[in-house]
Amino acid sequence: MRKLILVKYASEIFLKGLNKRKFERKLLENIKEALQEIQYQFIMDQNRLFIASDSIEEVIDKVKKVFGISSIALVTEVEAELDAIKEKALKEAKESKAKTFKINTKRANKTFPITSMDLSREVGAYILENSEDLQVDVHNPECLINIEIREKSYIYSRSINAVGGMPYKTNGKTMLMLSGGIDSPVAGYMMARRGVEVSSVYFHSHPYTSERAKEKVKQLCEELTNYTGSMELFVVPFTEIQIEIINKCREDELTIIMRRIMMRIACEMAKKYEIQSVTTGESMGQVASQTMEGLVVSNAVADRPVFRPLIGNDKEDIMDIARKIGTYDISILPYEDCCTIFVPKHPKTKPRLEAISKSEEALDINRLVQEAINNTELIKF
Ligand code: ATP
Ligand code: MG
Repeated sequence: MRKLILVKYASEIFLKGLNKRKFERKLLENIKEALQEIQYQFIMDQNRLFIASDSIEEVIDKVKKVFGISSIALVTEVEAELDAIKEKALKEAKESKAKTFKINTKRANKTFPITSMDLSREVGAYILENSEDLQVDVHNPECLINIEIREKSYIYSRSINAVGGMPYKTNGKTMLMLSGGIDSPVAGYMMARRGVEVSSVYFHSHPYTSERAKEKVKQLCEELTNYTGSMELFVVPFTEIQIEIINKCREDELTIIMRRIMMRIACEMAKKYEIQSVTTGESMGQVASQTMEGLVVSNAVADRPVFRPLIGNDKEDIMDIARKIGTYDISILPYEDCCTIFVPKHPKTKPRLEAISKSEEALDINRLVQEAINNTELIKF
């Protein structure tokens, strides 16, 4: 039997005034994209969207990951007929295991012979007569039973939380610096959840980092597409650059110089693909390179805004989000990333910009950056 859900938009979409249409249109497009392999039917009504399908579980699983949707209500469809409505409402009330309930009726179909108020009253009375410990509470019910009368009638009380946020691709683009770690996929998710289209760049130091480390990053992209629908991954060859740095720079400056070159490349790639910003998974103070001084010195080479959505989060918070969005188990796979191989014993925690710029004169940075970009591989998910 076909079942239905009612999709509830995040309230922020309604604050958009004239832009609301644009956001809504994009949201519908994104839902369609998420459901492209499933049979379903949209039922639109003013500001609301019902989806009917024989495979409602699959629909729910996809739709709850579409940004811009705050929750999904499980809806039962019955004939617009009093007895059928009473029975279903009673069943909802009993199954909720609540002690108190309220009936909320909307009558879109004015040919239905009973007014909303009267229908609420009749159904409420029926539930009271046919249950033992259920009470009405109009102010603060544990179970709110919604009844909507249309061609058919729709009854719902239970809802499932969805991801919320703003519809994907309604708010510009960012180039995510995606390592195989726990933080950067979460940072990408946070940006995507605000409607920002995310492309990823990964610096790969073959053979110092194995093919499996790259596979892990690919898996992370794949996981993020559960929310974004698609993603581009740029794999930048980074070995030559690291070897150059090791040969020509001071050991305690390796990390900061490496991070500045990554940042330069991420910005160049962003420019090349008309992406306005860069995003990293950095969090204040988390590791030696993420001090205020370290962030300032690596930021100094950026030619566009660099977002660090995790800057104020504790590692524990970040791990919780990673578990919730499904990237954690991939991130903890034990394959080294390029930074763990080249870590100096005593990295500078308070680098100074002039000193680092001076040290970088030993490198032909423009050539290194251009060559890395020319040899970049693009993988589409
Ligand atoms: P993560 O858990 O995201 O790997 P981290 O705590 O290991 O972060 P760092 O290694 O200092 O921190 O990296 C800081 C940020 O730099 C990462 O969050 C990521 O955005 C970027 N980054 C680091 N290594 C790479 C890489 N090999 N390719 C792409 N981006 C990287
Ligand atoms: Mg890392």
